[in-house]
Amino acid sequence: MNKSFAPLAPTSDIRPVVSRVETVIVDLPTIRPHKLSVATMNGQVLMLVRVHCSDGIVGIGEGTTIGGLAYGGESPESMKTNIDTWFAPVMVGQDATQVQALMARIGGMVRENRFAKSAVETALLDAQGKRVGLPVSELLGGRRRDRLPVAWTLASGDTARDIAEAERMLDLRRHRVFKLKIGARGVRDDIAHVAAIKAALGDRAAVRVDVNMAWSEGEAAFGMAALADAGCELVEQPVASTAALTRLVRRFPVALMADESLTGPESAFEIARVQGADVFAVKLEQSGGAFNALRVAAIAEAAGIGLYGGTMLEGAVGTAISAHAFSTFANLQWGTELFGPLLLTEEILAEPLDYGDFELTVPRGPGLGVTLDEDRVAFFARDGIRKTISLPGGKV
Ligand SMILES: [Mg+2]
Repeated sequence: MNKSFAPLAPTSDIRPVVSRVETVIVDLPTIRPHKLSVATMNGQVLMLVRVHCSDGIVGIGEGTTIGGLAYGGESPESMKTNIDTWFAPVMVGQDATQVQALMARIGGMVRENRFAKSAVETALLDAQGKRVGLPVSELLGGRRRDRLPVAWTLASGDTARDIAEAERMLDLRRHRVFKLKIGARGVRDDIAHVAAIKAALGDRAAVRVDVNMAWSEGEAAFGMAALADAGCELVEQPVASTAALTRLVRRFPVALMADESLTGPESAFEIARVQGADVFAVKLEQSGGAFNALRVAAIAEAAGIGLYGGTMLEGAVGTAISAHAFSTFANLQWGTELFGPLLLTEEILAEPLDYGDFELTVPRGPGLGVTLDEDRVAFFARDGIRKTISLPGGKV
């Protein structure tokens, strides 16, 4: 018998299993109020999950939303409760190395809860990457790029302040693509705000807007025409319904991006089927995890729809898994908006993510390639150390 055809012997009969699942809520302040049509955020709440495995490896994941329950049906608090109560019993004792199989098992027992699923899948991928000594990007098929362009969101609501903020970002060489959050005011006021910012920045920067579904279809038709005239290159989710998006797309010389309408592969297929967008904002949590985000990207590519790496304003852990996933996309024509950690005043990683020259470097270490600063996580944990300690200056 030709020995080269002999089956490979397993390196060990005992595979590591999930031994414990731990969650914590972390409250972090933001550098300024972040105004969206759906909410104004003065801080960010992260739900961190640690998956402990029988081989001693611990994977970390994150679940974060925009404005609590203002964006969708899950909150960091609901994720913590649901993972503690319903996910953990399904996971404990199961093979920790077969991530897709374990996620399918969870999917059989837990409906919906895409954000919470994304968080535990992230932790399982982090653990498996650490186990085999590879970055998560390699577990997802292999990165095609090491650096990702990062847009910045101007969302103070004040035109002069937004221009000053954009100028500072250009000077720092951190961002040259700016997304303006509009929709909370009247359409004409918003158009004037966008036009003034684009006029101030000129060709030095690209300007895009996100309406977060605030417009009626009629307002969107007026608004998109005026935004195109103002030099805006992309309008994100001006209206809520996919049918209205489909009627608006390609009517104006400005790209139309679907965001809230995209809730995973099924909705991606439906929007692609009716040609309801020029661009998909792919978000890992909205998609239900990294594997589903890759499926959304594959549907976009097959349909000739452009790709943009979106954020739920995640902290460093959610940003890292997103970066790993986006690094594997065949096309990423519109770059990313993975600036979430830069919106926070506090660092919870032992070594911060590397932002520079308008781009984020995808971490290279095993797993997510990031390490939590456990003391700082404990300090900012809700009902944790901070309750009994006060910072100098009495800030907390
Ligand atoms: Mg959006």
